[in-house]
Amino acid sequence: MRIITHSCPDCGTIVAGNILERRRTMKCPGLDCEAVLRFADLDSDDQTYITENQEKYTLD
Ligand SMILES: [Zn+2]
Repeated sequence: MRIITHSCPDCGTIVAGNILERRRTMKCPGLDCEAVLRFADLDSDDQTYITENQEKYTLD
């Protein structure tokens, strides 16, 4: 499986794509960064991949 990540355009903090998928939108976890990251910001190919492989990302 591929690990898809998204980097904040403001501070470069890396967020896992599957976390974005679960939350849809989230505040950037970067220190002192107020950017809002969206699942929709991912490439459409990446969005499709995560959606189709969701079960493989289950954390245990
Ligand atoms: Zn940020």
